[in-house]
Amino acid sequence: MLDQIWANLMLILFPPRCCGCGDPIPMQRNRNFCSLCAARVVFISSPLCPVCGIGLSSDGGGEDRFCHGCLRCLPTFDSARSLVYYRDPVRTLLHQLKFKADTRAVPGLRSVIYEGGDWYRKEDYDLIIPVPLFPARLKKRGLNQALVLARLFFTEESEKIDPTVLIKVENTPAQSELNGIERRKNLAGTIRARPNADLVGSRICLVDDILTTGTTVSECSLILKENGAKIVDVLTFARA
Ligand SMILES: [Zn+2]
Ligand SMILES: [Zn+2]
Repeated sequence: MLDQIWANLMLILFPPRCCGCGDPIPMQRNRNFCSLCAARVVFISSPLCPVCGIGLSSDGGGEDRFCHGCLRCLPTFDSARSLVYYRDPVRTLLHQLKFKADTRAVPGLRSVIYEGGDWYRKEDYDLIIPVPLFPARLKKRGLNQALVLARLFFTEESEKIDPTVLIKVENTPAQSELNGIERRKNLAGTIRARPNADLVGSRICLVDDILTTGTTVSECSLILKENGAKIVDVLTFARA
């Protein structure tokens, strides 16, 4: 009884704060986001391209269909899916994690994954691989956001997560500063598989924070397939 009174008093004195904007959340709203921020978290759902996962307009009907890009040329990965569109409050949370190694972003990101359900599981994966960072960049940043997100997505299968399979061998300018062609040139030959990694016949889920042009995950998928991977599905938190 006293415990309950105390707990309620603490809630009134220190109401939970929104993971997006930091505003107090009304007590009855049993969530991590205030209603304004929650409305801005937009999940990507059908109709979408069954290959690259891009959201399509429902003018062409509600059915999933191949996008123009995939009709023209199939990507090196088997499929890609992203949970939400890259906009606030998700954008701020991913920035906080990526550039400030601020793990206070984790509860907000976790609650978005929780709300998204387990739609992202396409296969029973043998390996879950985060997109690698160049070691010096990893040291400077303090964490690899793709690894943190892989752990959030696959809480029950953390033993399958292996951040050592792919190696970034050269420091390249951040992809966000480059256009599509420059991105491909920038990455060519800079990602390798660990020499003793046994990938033959494996089903892999490659995890990253944001899918923009898909250049990075395409390069990683190519390397994984060249080393014998049977299936490479891509999972990213957000899609630009
Ligand atoms: Zn908010
Ligand atoms: Zn597509």
